Amino acid sequence: MKNAALSELFRQLPSVNDVMGASAVGSLAASYGHDSTADAVRVVLARLRQEITSGLLDEDALGLALSGLAGAVENQLRQALGYSLRAVINATGVILHTNLGRAPLSDAAIEHIRETAASYSNLEFELGAGERGKRDVHVDRLFQRLLGEEVKSKEHAAVSTIVVNNNAAAVLLALNTLAEGGEVIVSRGELVEIGGSFRIPDVMAKSGAILREVGTTNRTRTADYERAITERTRLLLRVHRSNFEITGFTEQASKAELVSLARVRGIPLMEDLGSGALFDLHSVGIGGEPGVLDSLRSGVDIVTYSGDKLLGGPQAGLISGGSELIARMRSNSLFRALRVDKLIYAALEATLLEYVRHDHDAIPTLRMMRLTKEAIGKRAEALAARIVAPKLKVEVVDGESILGGGAAPSSILPTRVLALTCEGLSADELAARLRGSDPPIIARVDEGRVLLDLRTVFTAQDEAIESALAMVGRNG
Ligand SMILES: *Cc1c(COP(=O)(O)O)cnc(C)c1O
Repeated sequence: MKNAALSELFRQLPSVNDVMGASAVGSLAASYGHDSTADAVRVVLARLRQEITSGLLDEDALGLALSGLAGAVENQLRQALGYSLRAVINATGVILHTNLGRAPLSDAAIEHIRETAASYSNLEFELGAGERGKRDVHVDRLFQRLLGEEVKSKEHAAVSTIVVNNNAAAVLLALNTLAEGGEVIVSRGELVEIGGSFRIPDVMAKSGAILREVGTTNRTRTADYERAITERTRLLLRVHRSNFEITGFTEQASKAELVSLARVRGIPLMEDLGSGALFDLHSVGIGGEPGVLDSLRSGVDIVTYSGDKLLGGPQAGLISGGSELIARMRSNSLFRALRVDKLIYAALEATLLEYVRHDHDAIPTLRMMRLTKEAIGKRAEALAARIVAPKLKVEVVDGESILGGGAAPSSILPTRVLALTCEGLSADELAARLRGSDPPIIARVDEGRVLLDLRTVFTAQDEAIESALAMVGRNG
């Protein structure tokens, strides 16, 4: 387009004041406030200017855009003043999806947050004595129930647990407390990176401990640890290979051997479990994923794990182990910097009580893991039968759900998925439409089809999927 024609289009753009003077925009200002409305007008006008510059608008298109200006301002206001963080439907079948907020909380956890956060609470107050108390007591008593009794007599005099911001913080606090200025022995096969920014060597450096690598990527023996022990050694560390497996010609020192080596040399053994299940994963057909109790029972001194992975609670880092070592971590000033707030304690306490009561189905992620392929298939068939959308082809086929969140990287849960194709749309376009629905639906794309796995969809959300599919399948 010629420059002269462009400047003619620019001339037709109204000023911010002109737009604010229009009656439809005036009533927006009355409900959303003058400043926010003026901001929204500026954004909308800037967008039009940009579109003119890029040659996207001719005379007619601009006229149309200007006639819908008040509507565009209102949309902009809604977006700017609405929540950015919002609920989505996870139809990926990945139960612990880090990008989608990991574990959804149980009803009891939400209710306990609501009742304690909307009021004052005894977070750090001993009601009996009327004195200052410790915030850890609320959950430590439950961890004692879940871990302490069984482990106590066998391996540890007493087991305590403290809570920090996340498992990365738990590892940092433990390493700093137990090994600052000294060496920590780790196998080269366990120098892992989890989710981009958590790397064992980096956390080690930040903790002030010195990493002493032993063995090779695929094979590390107990003798390798033994040879590396010097008077500088403060800790033996085992790290769960959360998001990968090494197969083939491999060897890993057994936990029992490491425990006895640690005992003989008087050095603590710590295990970064990552996911850290508090229930028996074999019951859902998943093997080879060590639980927190397994580690403590076998004599590991300190275990670190996340609150929002297999435990199914809020984001938190848990450190469980012998009371003396835990007491040292509690008195480290880093603990104060990494501590969690009352909302997390409330959610964690409610979740742990569900474990104490063996009410596993109350915890959403555990319930999802326990769903059978048959039950999911039935729901998928029923949903497929209700969808009336001429352009949409819906099939129910076999699929695989995964735990995610760095747990049991190669174990899958068999499932049934809705496989969708839509006339006139590629699979990626269809997935984008579903993300654009309200609430957004997040699906997987596989071999030209969009897959919806109802394992991770709450039953109450089936209806929203039904209407989103009807909408997309009607219009293509
Ligand atoms: C997930 C994971 C972490 C990090 O835990 P966050 O709670 O995300 O901080 C650390 N170590 C291992 C082995 C993990 O699997």
